Amino acid sequence: MSSDKTTVAVIGLGIMGSPMAVNLVKAGYDVVGYNRSKAKTEALVAQGGRAAESVADAVSAADVVVTMLPDSPDVEAVVLGEEGIVANARPRSLWIDASTIRPDVSVRLAELAGRRAIRAVDAPVSGGEAGAIEASLSIMVGGSADDVEAARPVLDAVGSTVVHVGPAGAGQTVKAANQLIVAGTIELVAEALVFLDAHGVDAEAAVKVLAGGLAGNRILDRKAAGMIAREFAPGFRVDLHHKDLGIVTSAAREAGVAIPLGAVVAQLMGALRARGHGSLDHSALRLLVDELSGRN
Ligand code: NAD
Repeated sequence: MSSDKTTVAVIGLGIMGSPMAVNLVKAGYDVVGYNRSKAKTEALVAQGGRAAESVADAVSAADVVVTMLPDSPDVEAVVLGEEGIVANARPRSLWIDASTIRPDVSVRLAELAGRRAIRAVDAPVSGGEAGAIEASLSIMVGGSADDVEAARPVLDAVGSTVVHVGPAGAGQTVKAANQLIVAGTIELVAEALVFLDAHGVDAEAAVKVLAGGLAGNRILDRKAAGMIAREFAPGFRVDLHHKDLGIVTSAAREAGVAIPLGAVVAQLMGALRARGHGSLDHSALRLLVDELSGRN
């Protein structure tokens, strides 16, 4: 570790965490990474980062800790466990949770971290693997104004749109809304592609013109080519979007909000997963539409 650099610990070096950690190295931070399966630290180390042996090892000398883990229980374990962040991070250090988790869990963990003088910011991201690699993520940030300002240089190194949306947990609420829109849009694009196919229309030509009009959207731009070719390497796994739609439906229910289309898409995502496709990209919703239409 070099003493003049800010040390950032990154816990969870998967599809998103690994390129984010690499971009932090490129931005000049001293980055120490930890992942449960050790091989995933390789990309970070190749770029000049360091690999830690445990969460405690990673966070004990860090100024900033970034978590990028799958789900609420994973974040709870890494934050509250004996070897975890609350027990081992330095007082006044900043914990940025970039994972997508339940807003209520986020609020509770921020409160528990605060009791140990660890400053917590929830900063879930959107933009997918490509956005993580390009450091162009859209980041929805919850926390106190001071803590969010302290987190901003780190967030600017991995994202291009960083917006403070409210107090602790608010970032996760905005992310849940994001996942509702993304899932619904993928389903509509999938239905459109199967519809075009059934009518014998060239899907690539159709997407080109659709993308230029009011139907244009990022799913068409980024996912349609793979959906046409039926290539569904993740990207964003069906398992994770299923988790997120669970967050959306329960948070909507708690708020007394009806999300009829969201509820249908949540069922479709669950069915895709139940059919054994949990590790495919979420754009594999197309497979289900093919199947429902007798076209596979
Ligand atoms: P991933 O499964 O590829 O990565 C998660 C990593 O965490 C894995 O490498 C896993 O080994 C590691 N891990 C799990 N438990 C651990 C523990 N206790 N200690 C250390 N490491 C542990 O998932 P991902 O796609 O990178 O997503 C991470 C988070 O970001 C999720 O909450 C997801 O919903 C969100 N997200 C993903 C995308 C995307 O496109 N992939 C986009 C936006 C947000």
